[in-house]
Amino acid sequence: MRIVLLGPPGAGKGTQAKRLAASGKVAHVASGDLFRKHQAEGTELGNLAKTYMEKGELVPDQVTVQMVLERIKERDAEIGYVLDGFPRTMEQAEALDRALAEQGEAIDWAPLIEVDKTELRARLGGRWVCTDCQTPYHEHAAPPRQKGACDVCGGTLAQRPDDRPEAVEKRLEVYDSQTAPLIYYYERQGKLRRVNGAQPVDVVAGVLLLAIA
Ligand code: ADP
Ligand code: AMP
Repeated sequence: MRIVLLGPPGAGKGTQAKRLAASGKVAHVASGDLFRKHQAEGTELGNLAKTYMEKGELVPDQVTVQMVLERIKERDAEIGYVLDGFPRTMEQAEALDRALAEQGEAIDWAPLIEVDKTELRARLGGRWVCTDCQTPYHEHAAPPRQKGACDVCGGTLAQRPDDRPEAVEKRLEVYDSQTAPLIYYYERQGKLRRVNGAQPVDVVAGVLLLAIA
């Protein structure tokens, strides 16, 4: 199963993708996590990505597409994958489809997690992320068992620099102008499934599973 998980920043893509991957049936491939890993390792790509990410802008298509296409060729992704945060532009979506078609493959489903902007701002403002495994938490809605520590791996939780209000506004704007058009791209392909994301995490997970069954 190859899934593109759509939705604005803060909709709960990472939260739901991690749950899907925990089933062992798909790998979780998050472009933002890959860029943050490069940054932590101080690679050239990480340094380039940082200049865009801190402003809430998109990293250029060419390097992003190359990074994700290489990642989905890795062994753990042979069973299938859920793409989280990619594609984010029409050019990325078309490049992904072309690369898959060359292998006789295609995306199966594109679920869209829908959440309104007031709730998105509240979610991003209270988000804490594990600096090791990137599991997201929320100080009110999804707190860790022990303050400041990841339930999954015990890693340290931190707030993302791009979750500060100015960067959040820019990311919401970029989503509307560059990423939202993908909704119609996948709708035309008959792959779009709308999921109401303004429900508790477990409920969203159940609806999402039904949407891709
Ligand atoms: P995205 O990957 O789409 O940016 P995340 O999965 O990181 O979103 O979630 C954003 C924030 O919202 C996190 O703090 C997360 O704990 C919280 N969150 C995720 N899903 C829900 C939900 N259904 N209800 C309330 N808070 C949620
Ligand atoms: P995310 O973790 O998905 O919220 O992404 C964080 C940031 O990484 C974004 O605001 C972009 O700067 C960058 N990024 C992640 N995925 C992409 C992508 N598919 N295309 C361009 N930039 C991306």
